Amino acid sequence: MSWLNRVRNSLPFATKRETPDNLWVKCPQCHDMLFAKEYEDSMSVCPRCGHHGRIGADARLSQILDPGYALLPAPQVKEDPLKFRDTKRYTDRLKQARAKNPHDDAFTAAFGQIEGQRAVVGVQDFMFMGGSMGMAVGAAFCAAAERAIEEKCGFVVCTAAGGARMQEGILSLMQMPKATVMTRRLKEAGLPYLVVLTDPTTGGVTASYAMLGDVHIAEPGALIGFAGQRVIQETIREQLPDGFQRAEYLYDHGMVDMVVERKDLRSTLARLLAYTQPQAA
Ligand SMILES: [Zn+2]
Repeated sequence: MSWLNRVRNSLPFATKRETPDNLWVKCPQCHDMLFAKEYEDSMSVCPRCGHHGRIGADARLSQILDPGYALLPAPQVKEDPLKFRDTKRYTDRLKQARAKNPHDDAFTAAFGQIEGQRAVVGVQDFMFMGGSMGMAVGAAFCAAAERAIEEKCGFVVCTAAGGARMQEGILSLMQMPKATVMTRRLKEAGLPYLVVLTDPTTGGVTASYAMLGDVHIAEPGALIGFAGQRVIQETIREQLPDGFQRAEYLYDHGMVDMVVERKDLRSTLARLLAYTQPQAA
């Protein structure tokens, strides 16, 4: 430290600068510095390059649903059933995630309307332990689907996940068939199940309820896949094509039905619900 800095730091008026750290956001794609307010106003989509940033459950719900929606209670599940510990205890990881998040686990659902169309909307939050699917996520997914059946309305799920929650071992994998059964029950009830694939949707979530929708919508640029690109590349020993596992590539190859920009998501969902769900007489 130079003598000048030493003197400056010792002065009472030379405290930390007053500018809040969160005034600017750096776009992960074009690296442009964006004014945070401007970024938020554009629904966390970069106004320069169109990159769709990851957003939390509350932001997503308020972007999709009309004002006045009600959050569904989060079902209680047995916590840390395997008493799992890697470099840290699972319970400590949960505590840490909860301190940084407004919700207790990675799946939050609400009942309300989308441009007047009644719907239950479930959102998986990548910010909560990578959106990983454990018992809490499975239970919240099933409870939300049950509510849709009760209300005789459509079920919309926005997926985002790194996969199953490894700290819950086989119990996390059991959420796959459990959620799959619920998608069947929605079908039997004649209700639409719409999936919005957001960045990133991978692993066990892709291998179950994320790919069982009546309509699959993906956000531009979203990474959607089961195994990661590097794993596939090393297994088949071939170079994978550009844009592999991205929303647009999957659309070109028939894996998703449409790629919809975030600003058009609400109206697209409302239109699909109007086509597919029972309308009140
Ligand atoms: Zn950008």
